[in-house]
Amino acid sequence: GGAAEPPPRLVLDLERLTQVPSEKAGPLQRYAATIQSQRGDYNGKVLSIRQDDLRTLAVIYDQSPSILTEQLISWGVLNPDARRAVREEDA
Ligand code: C2E
Ligand code: C2E
Ligand code: C2E
Repeated sequence: GGAAEPPPRLVLDLERLTQVPSEKAGPLQRYAATIQSQRGDYNGKVLSIRQDDLRTLAVIYDQSPSILTEQLISWGVLNPDARRAVREEDA
C-alpha cells in the first residue's frame, strides 16, 4: 500500500470480549488483561492494541493474522476496519 494513509487502529471491545465463551476467547481475554495491567488502564470499554500484538495473538491461536482477524471481527470484539492492517501486512 501507499504511505499516505496511516494504518488503522486496532480496537478491542472489552464488553463484548467478556460475552464470548472462554474456550474460544480465553487466550485473548488473558492477553488483553495483561495489557490493561501493564498500562494501569482498567476503566476503558475499549482497548487500543499494537499492530504487533495481532501477530503475537495469531501465533497463540495458531492461525494466520488474516484468519484470526476475521474470527475476532465475527465475535464482535475487533473493529472491522482492522482488516486493512492485515492486508497491508500480507501485501
Ligand atoms: P514500553 O513498551 O517500554 O513503553 C513505555 C511507555 O511508552 C508506555 O508506558 C507508554 O507510556 C509509552 N508507549 C510505548 N508505545 C506506545 C504507543 O504505541 N502508544 C502510546 N500511546 N504510548 C506508547 P505504559 O503504557 O505504562 O506501558 C508500560 C509497558 O507495558 C510497555 O513498556 C510495554 O512493555 C507494556 N505494554 C503496554 N501496552 C502494551 C501493548 O499494547 N502491547 C504490548 N505488547 N505491550 C504493552
Ligand atoms: P480514538 O483513538 O478514536 O479513541 C476514542 C476513545 O476511545 C478515547 O477517547 C477513549 O475513551 C477510548 N479508547 C481508545 N483506546 C483506548 C484504550 O486503549 N484504553 C481506554 N481506556 N480507552 C480507550 P479519549 O481518551 O477522549 O481520546 C480521544 C482521542 O484522542 C482518541 O480517539 C485519539 O485520537 C486521541 N488520543 C487519546 N489518547 C491517545 C494516545 O495515547 N495516543 C494518540 N496518538 N492519540 C490519543
Ligand atoms: P498511538 O498512541 O496513536 O500510536 C500510534 C503508533 O505510533 C503506534 O502504533 C506506534 O507505531 C507509534 N508509537 C507511538 N508511541 C510510540 C512509542 O513510545 N514508541 C514506539 N516505538 N512507537 C510508538 P502501534 O504500536 O500499533 O499502537 C497502536 C495503539 O495502541 C497506540 O496508538 C496506543 O493507543 C496503543 N498502545 C500501544 N502500545 C501502548 C503502550 O505501551 N501504552 C499505551 N498506553 N498504549 C499503547
